[in-house]
Amino acid sequence: MTNPSPTRRRFLGASAALAAAPAVHAVDTRPALLGGEPVHKGRWPSWPVFDKTEENALAEVVRSGKWFRGDGKKVDEFEAAYARLTGAKACVATVNGTNSLFTALNVMDVRAGDEVLLTPFTFLASFNVILRQHALPVFVDSDPDSFLMDPAAMEGMVNERTRAIMPVHIGGSCVDMDGVMAFARKHKLGVVEDACQAWIAQWRGRNVGRTGTAGCFSFQASKNLNSGEGGAVISDDEEFIDRCHAFHNQGRNRRSPGYPMSGSNLRLSEFQAAVLLAQMTRFEQQSNTRNANAAYLDSLLKEIPGIRPAKTYDGCTRNAYHLYMMRYDQSQFAGLPRAQFLKAMNAEGIPFRAGYSSHRNFEFLRELPNDRAFRKLFGERRLQEWAKQSFDLPRFERVCQEHTWFGQNILLADRSGMDQIAAAVRKVQKHAAELAKV
Ligand SMILES: *Cc1c(COP(=O)(O)O)cnc(C)c1O
Repeated sequence: MTNPSPTRRRFLGASAALAAAPAVHAVDTRPALLGGEPVHKGRWPSWPVFDKTEENALAEVVRSGKWFRGDGKKVDEFEAAYARLTGAKACVATVNGTNSLFTALNVMDVRAGDEVLLTPFTFLASFNVILRQHALPVFVDSDPDSFLMDPAAMEGMVNERTRAIMPVHIGGSCVDMDGVMAFARKHKLGVVEDACQAWIAQWRGRNVGRTGTAGCFSFQASKNLNSGEGGAVISDDEEFIDRCHAFHNQGRNRRSPGYPMSGSNLRLSEFQAAVLLAQMTRFEQQSNTRNANAAYLDSLLKEIPGIRPAKTYDGCTRNAYHLYMMRYDQSQFAGLPRAQFLKAMNAEGIPFRAGYSSHRNFEFLRELPNDRAFRKLFGERRLQEWAKQSFDLPRFERVCQEHTWFGQNILLADRSGMDQIAAAVRKVQKHAAELAKV
């Protein structure tokens, strides 16, 4: 609602005559959680963004009667466009991001009994897909400043079963790929980048997904490029993508007859490809808006002690900003616990959230040492050792406790939206002691 409150209307009416109206003004700046007016009263940009472009694209596919990629050309067209966008030599579209990771892992020959190094600060699909392969997700600690996998924390985690590293570019911010690649070369490991939140993010001027062996992307509804469900694998190794293509199409060779491997059906439909092509007409402009707003908000938050944007490495020459990530230091907010801080921010109309919690909360991970198949594959001793290592990651646990973020659509607002975010943080900070009591 944008109607000014009675108090505010009175204030506006009287302010010309009464130069000093600090008492009334003070009422206006009370935290919304304590009955004041919220800083943000309108609506944030909604997601997804669409218009006739999507409608027409879908109608065209409907009328063509060519709904499957074997009949139509939309999926082919999208793969070519996505390869162009990312600069990759080749691309294969898949049903979703989870299965783009599944495809890449299979083609990298990550199999039952292998181990894969990754961060637990991720959406659970990253480790679910490793587990479904009956490989072991070996969790490494985080860089507390960037929230991302700390390559140095992989030291000592490699054994003869270790086959690959899965750096996850959380929020669209790049993992330190120099560190990851140096470690991968030293130990002869494959690298599959989970870039499901990092479409056109760049590491040293090169799009993510092209530094490692392959990069995997998601086009699920919440993502910055969206067709409800969808995914893709990119690589600069064309033969690798040929093999991904075969895997996603029941193992069928793409260029010649034959079935070199067993596979699955992970094909994107023509409808989804048509929507993705339509979404791509706005994608780069939206990305630029997010990046400009994020840079502006960085500059505003720099002035506020206790709320710090997550570090973006110098090598990350472009952040995709699926999430705007921050670290909350409650000692700078009169000890106000994070949960109460978030409640106060939400009351101000600012949708700050707590994101990932510790992977210890997933019973299927805690119970893994008791799993029949994993016991056969890895042995009880290795699984006990794994549990001890994987659940003792102090820097990651701190990140879980102290981070907050908001989603990409907020960064599509105009600049005044960023001013409101900073104003709300300042207001909550000013009244933190009072807010801690309610
Ligand atoms: C969204 C996401 C996935 C999974 O993608 P889906 O398309 O939902 O299957 C995997 N990893 C990360 C980091 C994600 O954010």
